Amino acid sequence: MGRYLGSSCKHCRREGMKLMLKGVRCEMAKCPVEKKQRNLAPGMHGWRRGRNSEYGVRLREKQKVKRYYGLFERQFMRYFHKAERIKGNTGETLLQLLERRLDNVVYKLNFAPSRKAARQLVSHGHIYVNGRKVNVSDYTIGIGDRITVKAAEKSVKRIKEQLETNPSFATQAWLQLVREKPEATVVALPTREDVQIPVEEQLVVEFCSR
Ligand code: SF4
Repeated sequence: MGRYLGSSCKHCRREGMKLMLKGVRCEMAKCPVEKKQRNLAPGMHGWRRGRNSEYGVRLREKQKVKRYYGLFERQFMRYFHKAERIKGNTGETLLQLLERRLDNVVYKLNFAPSRKAARQLVSHGHIYVNGRKVNVSDYTIGIGDRITVKAAEKSVKRIKEQLETNPSFATQAWLQLVREKPEATVVALPTREDVQIPVEEQLVVEFCSR
């Protein structure tokens, strides 16, 4: 599967909000969204951010979610169609499915500073699920899954160093982390409150169901 190689900050500027795509760098004053004069939509006419139409509002909500999880359109729509087939609130189910992606879980455990870095960690074979190497970042984790790190000095050292960079990082309640090993167990499925992006999922569903 391909990956986006362009500027991450461009996505935040387009959405007019911090999507936290670059890890610690997003906390710094250098972030373009922090700099008011540069917080413009990308492109030559970025300053002309007019009022969005109903279609535009819904489109932006969908793009926000897609970019937050670092997906391409086709990958995103696959999740949407999967969510549609599951009984319950489609918007919430969609967010839950995205939250259960292995790269997101690795990021939420603070094994990596960003989702992009988490994806690399997974694809390079540093992450094991239930004792088996999983190198596909869209692997969907479930309750009871045990996430461990490859038993190689380099892998363990790298993740321990990352955990030490932010000892106050609070792991979400649905994940139980043992920092010393490091390893984690999925004790529940994520809820809507665990999804930290401010998004109106109903608008995403309306856009995708057109
Ligand atoms: Fe760039 Fe991070 Fe700021 Fe987004 S939040 S604009 S990715 S530095």
